[in-house]
Amino acid sequence: MKNDDIIDSVLSVLALDGSLNKWEIQFFNELCQRLNISQETQHKAIQRIKQGKGRIHLPEQDSDKKRLLYFLIQAVVADGKVSEQERHVLQTVVEKLGISFSYVEEILEQRMKEVKTERYTIRQESTIVCPKCSFEQTSSYRCKRCGVIFEKYKQAQGPTDEDLLMDILSSSNRLKKKE
Ligand SMILES: [Zn+2]
Repeated sequence: MKNDDIIDSVLSVLALDGSLNKWEIQFFNELCQRLNISQETQHKAIQRIKQGKGRIHLPEQDSDKKRLLYFLIQAVVADGKVSEQERHVLQTVVEKLGISFSYVEEILEQRMKEVKTERYTIRQESTIVCPKCSFEQTSSYRCKRCGVIFEKYKQAQGPTDEDLLMDILSSSNRLKKKE
């Protein structure tokens, strides 16, 4: 199944009720971006729909069904939430494909968890607070606001309370070992 067929099919399903609303067009634009569909191809597909020449190439092979479903779910969860409208459109397509929607809802839930975990992990790993000016940033070497080099700044500040505590703990361990 070619990408052009996928967008034609999705667009036809979106237009089943006789029109494309603002939300449906947005949904479609996002899907085209994800599939790297050119503006021209996208425009032609919309023109065909407006002329009543929509084509539904819903795939028959399981591998193609899965592929179409994959892109639909990616598009739906892309913003980190699933609206009632998104759920409704997805349900319409899924029913046309002859796939059980409860199965798709399971995948949706799974993907939502993954998207949330990905975002959480990225934020945790990439954010650093400057020890001098407290500016929050993704740089890990030099502060983007005050220009301080984190490692040098830490050394110049002398040992932190945590460092002192570690020293005390390690020296007391040494004492214990000697006894
Ligand atoms: Zn700074």
